[in-house]
Order: sequence, then C-alpha cells, then structure tokens
Amino acid sequence: SKTKGGNSYSFYDPKLQTLLEKQIELETDIVRAIACGEFCAYFQPKISALGGVVGAEALIRWHHPSKGVIPPCEFISIAEQYGLIQQLQNIVLRDICFLINELSAENMIDEFFNVSINISQCQFNSSTLKTELLNTINDFDIRSSQIKLEITESMLSGDIDNTIQQMEELKEKGFIFSIDDFGTGYSSLAHLSAFPVKELKIDKSFIDKVLDDGSGFSIVQMIIGLAKSLNISVVAEGVEGLEQFEILKTMHIDSIQGYLIAKPMITHDYLAWHKHNRAL
Ligand code: C2E
Ligand code: CA
Ligand code: CA
Ligand code: CA
Repeated sequence: SKTKGGNSYSFYDPKLQTLLEKQIELETDIVRAIACGEFCAYFQPKISALGGVVGAEALIRWHHPSKGVIPPCEFISIAEQYGLIQQLQNIVLRDICFLINELSAENMIDEFFNVSINISQCQFNSSTLKTELLNTINDFDIRSSQIKLEITESMLSGDIDNTIQQMEELKEKGFIFSIDDFGTGYSSLAHLSAFPVKELKIDKSFIDKVLDDGSGFSIVQMIIGLAKSLNISVVAEGVEGLEQFEILKTMHIDSIQGYLIAKPMITHDYLAWHKHNRAL
C-alpha cells in the first residue's frame, strides 16, 4: 500500500524490502544447496546414567561452499516458511536410517537403541508425515521403534485433541515420542499424562542452573519426579560439566546428552566415536 503516516507499513519500506530480499536470497540458496547435497545430519550421542550409549540425536547442518558449516538456527525457520522443511527432513531421515544400518551391520547397537529426529510444528501438522516416515524406514529396512520423534513442549499446548490423535496414529505404527525443551512451555505440565510420551528432555536452561543455589535444582528435581510418576524417562540436554552429571545422577536422571560426552558429529565420525565409546 501507499498509506502515509500512522504505523502502517508501505510495501516500499526499504528495510522491509531488504529483509524480504534477504529471505528470498536465502530461500534460493537453500533450494540450490538441497540439489547440491550440502545438507546432512550430524549425530550427538545420548548416554545412560548407568552407562552405555542408548541413542543419538540427529541435528541438521549445512556445509556451505563459501560460508562453512551453517547451524540450523540460521535456516530452519526460512525452510519452514518456504515449504522446504519436508525436503530437509527427508535428508535427515535418510542419514538416520543409513547410520542405524551401519551400526546394526557392525553389531554395535541393541534392540533399544534409537535415533531422534526433530519434528517442527508444520511437519507435525502435515498429513503426509506418517507416510513419509514409513516409506523411508521401509526403504532402509529399519524398524519404526528405532526412530524417536522429538516435538517441543510448546507443541502440546495447541489443539490438544488433534495433537493426541496425530501422536496416537504414529505411536500405533511404532514410533516413539520425546518431548523436547521441557520446562519452557509451562501450559502442558498438567496435560502431560494425556499424551503418548516415552521420554522428556529437560531444557538446557534448567540444566545450566542445576548446581546453583537457586531454583534450578528444585525445578529439575520436580521435573524428574513428575516424569517418574508418569513412567516417562528423563534426559538432561546440554550437559557440559562432570559435576552437573554427578548431581543429575544423584537425582536419578535416566540419560544425558551434551558436550561433556560429545559434540554432534558427522556420520563417519559418529560411527568411529560409537565404536570406541559404546560402553561409556
Ligand atoms: P534442540 O533440538 O534443542 O537441539 C539441541 C541443541 O543444543 C543443538 O544445537 C545441539 O548441538 C546443542 N547442544 C548439545 N549439547 C550441547 C552442550 O553441551 N552445550 C551447548 N551449548 N549446546 C549443546 P543445534 O544443532 O544448533 O540445533 C539447534 C536447534 O535446531 C535444535 O534444538 C532444533 O530445535 C533445531 N534442529 C536441528 N536439527 C533439526 C532438524 O533436522 N529438523 C528440525 N525441524 N529442527 C532441527
Ligand atoms: Ca531436539
Ligand atoms: Ca532441546
Ligand atoms: Ca530447541
């Protein structure tokens, strides 16, 4: 519009124009990068408090020819806005299946080992999620129980009936659900028992404060207590120090993920790491 004054935007607002141009530029670059095979999954191990590698989380990376490795925070939301997230998810899912097959072939995992994939809201809402997942695992001859779907706590607070139905359908096919960033969404605490959830991951912001005198310890303790009462296993994310791990063990955490154990690694490096550390 050409509206003058007030707070209204003009289409020709130069700032908005630049922002839009930047977004389109990024979107075009993502499309190119998909075609060139520049995206891949990295893997970060999850270890049990009792010992042993119990799983891994797939985290997407973009190996840009001139910009180096680009983290997901710089492109995921644009990919979502421009309808490209499904293609990125398929790349991640194929990398996951490849990894699981490699680990199986070398007898490096038991039947309980699973790999997590992050599912964003728009993917979760998509009617094709189930068939996309099933088609890919069938191609690779992977069991659905080897795939864990991470959805964020905030995704539980929308249309609850719809969310439960979508989750139940995927659960019926054998997929396992984990609730990511737990503790940051508030609203769903009371409803947690209504969802078919196997695991919850305590957000790093609380794990960072678990050694402090303040509320950090109590919040983590409360979340672990709640999860235990619902028979849900608890993961601490972003564990960076040994003291953190020690205190979390005394609080009966089930498993941990974080730089203390390992940073996310490209498939080849993860395989080597897993081989040497699976008894960790
Ligand atoms: P998230 O799912 O909460 O993943 C955890 C993030 O914390 C990852 O960042 C991981 O690399 C980082 N991290 C793990 N341990 C530590 C630690 O000890 N210290 C610190 N400082 N960080 C740690 P990353 O890989 O940059 O991913 C950021 C977010 O992007 C993820 O948060 C997730 O929401 C999203 N994401 C990543 N991969 C995918 C994907 O394939 N699909 C979708 N939809 N989202 C993804
Ligand atoms: Ca996650
Ligand atoms: Ca998280
Ligand atoms: Ca997150």
